[in-house]
Amino acid sequence: MCGIIGYIGNDSATDIVVDGLKKLEYRGYDSAGVGVIEDGKLRVIKKKGRVKNTEEAIPKTLKSTIGIGHTRWATHGAPSDKNSHPHISQNIAVVHNGIIENYACLKKELESEGVVFTSETDTEVIPHLINKIISNSMSDTDNIKCEIFYFHSILKAIRKLSGSYALAILNTDFPDLIVCVKRGSPLVVSKSNTASFIASDVGVASKHGGEIFILDDDELALIKKGEVNFFDTRGREKKKNSIVYEKEENSDELGNNAHHMLKEIKEIPSAIHETVIGVKKCFFNLEKNKLKKIKKIVLVGCGTAYHAGLSAKTVLEKFTKIPSYVEVASEFRYSNPLIGKETLVVLISQSGETADTLAALELAKKKRALTLAVVNNTTSAIALGADSRIITRAKKEIAVASTKAYNSQLVALYSFALYLADIKQTMPQDQINALKEMLLNLPKAAREVIESGLDKINSDIIKIFKDEKAIMFLGRGIDYATASEASLKLKEITYIHCSAYPAGELKHGTIALIENNYLVVAYLTDSTLKDKTLNALYEVKARGAKVFAITNQDLPKDAYDYIYEVPRLGILSPIASIIPMQIISYLTAVAKEIDPDKPRNLAKSVTVE
Ligand code: GLU
Repeated sequence: MCGIIGYIGNDSATDIVVDGLKKLEYRGYDSAGVGVIEDGKLRVIKKKGRVKNTEEAIPKTLKSTIGIGHTRWATHGAPSDKNSHPHISQNIAVVHNGIIENYACLKKELESEGVVFTSETDTEVIPHLINKIISNSMSDTDNIKCEIFYFHSILKAIRKLSGSYALAILNTDFPDLIVCVKRGSPLVVSKSNTASFIASDVGVASKHGGEIFILDDDELALIKKGEVNFFDTRGREKKKNSIVYEKEENSDELGNNAHHMLKEIKEIPSAIHETVIGVKKCFFNLEKNKLKKIKKIVLVGCGTAYHAGLSAKTVLEKFTKIPSYVEVASEFRYSNPLIGKETLVVLISQSGETADTLAALELAKKKRALTLAVVNNTTSAIALGADSRIITRAKKEIAVASTKAYNSQLVALYSFALYLADIKQTMPQDQINALKEMLLNLPKAAREVIESGLDKINSDIIKIFKDEKAIMFLGRGIDYATASEASLKLKEITYIHCSAYPAGELKHGTIALIENNYLVVAYLTDSTLKDKTLNALYEVKARGAKVFAITNQDLPKDAYDYIYEVPRLGILSPIASIIPMQIISYLTAVAKEIDPDKPRNLAKSVTVE
């Protein structure tokens, strides 16, 4: 959540910072701001709303070659001009991604020393704290312009912070220096001979060429034009290697698509293909002996990634006979889970930076479980921190509502289930081979579902959804997992209240919601559970509900009002059956004049708790 940018070089800092902010806008978009040093003075422009509001407010005459920027996803204080970053204390400006959990206590202390706050954010304590430490610890002989003294003041300040942060700090006393530090939130630095660049995202940092460095937790960087030095939080200099990063071409470009979400839905076949091929070429680097001893699997994720885990649980148990559980990362991390050496914890996260999933990884490691990351970003903290990783090769996803990454997560997880079944010999080899073959053919099936979906999901279908206030999603077994993801997709970009329930749970309370014309979307792709799910459809229809069935089964005509057919792919069906609801969600959002790429209150990459 939130994007941070910084630049020092020979070119216009405002232009480069604004351009970077536009690329990072998917990470948070309730406000934005830019801070630069011009002729030794701090100039800060920050506005509520999209980056373009800030861009328009920047005077054309502003000239600077050093600057920082921020696109915000508010945690403390409403989106407003004054709560936007950078936050300032006299000559110091700070942009921050994260949450300062002890800000209330720090703020009280600073206020008691006479500091006046101008925003409601947690972030504002940081520049004031640095300034207070500088003024309180400066003796008559100290030089305020001494870089070492300033650096140590920052070290003292960050020791007082608890929570998560990625910070970029400007100070007019050091007009050629940006200081960065991070804990828990991502930060990347790149440098060429003539410039240095800071970004929350490696793809954006790499745009400027040169060497790329991913900051570790509790690492500081002193950044000058074409020069970067790294330190630990005790002030000791560190050697740090640059990373090799394969640039993704055109990931930010829409081509002839109206939105990123549409473009990303169209990219599902290639995302699946690349993932299947990638998984085949480079199998999981977990040692086979260790995998053989696994007695329990726990899949951990948030939102869409959690739903991928839900779907994979069924497949893993079926293929490997290993008891598998799925946990929401924010619950798992505080649950003192019963895991150990013979547990495999699978961390699923598109960005690989999701704060709760990252914390779940740390906990799993502490408990000595084996860890496997299923991520879309090779250089992310979760990818680098886990014992092994499967990369979903979906390429960059910009739309907040995940589509191609979800389909790829399913492919990766199902492939892993097959791999494990092979190692543990829990499935006949011919079945394993047949499923592997089917995975290779999936891109074609997905392409057909997308093409026919974009063709036949017309305004008549969208009308069924658009004006509903509440929609219920039902499914059993693996179809419940797909129903859950479909429900999330529709609600997050159309603001319609959607909830998914296991079809058998209906009569234990939920059926009380059903009244005349209530819309129920039912998933039925598992033939073994078809009759049981059909019972639920009859029960809701008997009470006046309209049923929209998404199925690859022959259903009796009186069980539904609308039917949407998806291909018969056996246990792999979810990879294709989610697609119609991805398209319906997209088109419903467009029909409601909601930006599907940037729905309210959300952001991609949830790097705060
Ligand atoms: N906690 C800070 C705020 O509310 C930063 C949030 C972010 O990461 O955008 O302003």
